[in-house]
Amino acid sequence: SDHALTYPVSPQAMDWSSYYPAFVSKDEVPVESQQGQGNSVKRLTTSVEIADIGCGFGGLLFALSPHFPGKLILGLEIRTSVTEFVQEKIRALRSQQSSTSPDAAYQNTACLRANSMKFLPNFLPKSTLTHLFLCFPDPHFKARKHKARIVSPTLNSEYAYVMRSGGIVYTITDVEDLHLWMKGHFEGHESFEYVSEEELEKDGDVGVKVMRTETEEGKKVERNGGTKFVACFRRKEDPGWD
Ligand code: SAM
Repeated sequence: SDHALTYPVSPQAMDWSSYYPAFVSKDEVPVESQQGQGNSVKRLTTSVEIADIGCGFGGLLFALSPHFPGKLILGLEIRTSVTEFVQEKIRALRSQQSSTSPDAAYQNTACLRANSMKFLPNFLPKSTLTHLFLCFPDPHFKARKHKARIVSPTLNSEYAYVMRSGGIVYTITDVEDLHLWMKGHFEGHESFEYVSEEELEKDGDVGVKVMRTETEEGKKVERNGGTKFVACFRRKEDPGWD
């Protein structure tokens, strides 16, 4: 259960200093806290632009990190022990580097314990993500469990809220039924349009290639000779009022 999960009242109230020490301002600013009392936090010098929802053991985060120096990458994971494993690995990888400057390896990577189905807009500001990864989400096969899937009209509206126009949602699964579910729900959402892998590759995208090979679940599927279904969607511009 996520009763024990704490979350900021807004992204501005989030204290990122232990997650991205190389990317926080020196000064603390006062903010409202979950309990309503005053609090103060160090603000990020740049916002998170890449998110991996249900990041598991973090393979994708570590593989993306060197491709996006200076760009903040965040994994969200609901399981405590798995989150701690990823956080520990990030600490170890950082300590092997000779520098702790923002462009040093793995400074741009963090893992947060959170229920992404509930608190995403508490952590991430509007129109900030350029990449959102949904890799091998739990399939929840039975129809009565479909509401537990991390793709739905409501959740897609939250993804649309945190994404920048032109940003890409990347999905991959080995469960065809879930693939069709995700594709149907993103294509049916007014803020998203399907974009082919060929088109992304032509634009120099690295997201798909890394996603296809670097997640732990993807490696398992590879070993077992399974099929990987990929579908990507572009965040459309919001229509103007004129
Ligand atoms: N993306 C990883 C990969 O491809 O290797 C892990 C895939 S694993 C099948 C699904 C992950 O999503 C699990 O680690 C699970 O704990 C996490 N998860 C499930 N529901 C979640 C939620 N509501 N918020 C955050 N993480 C969640």
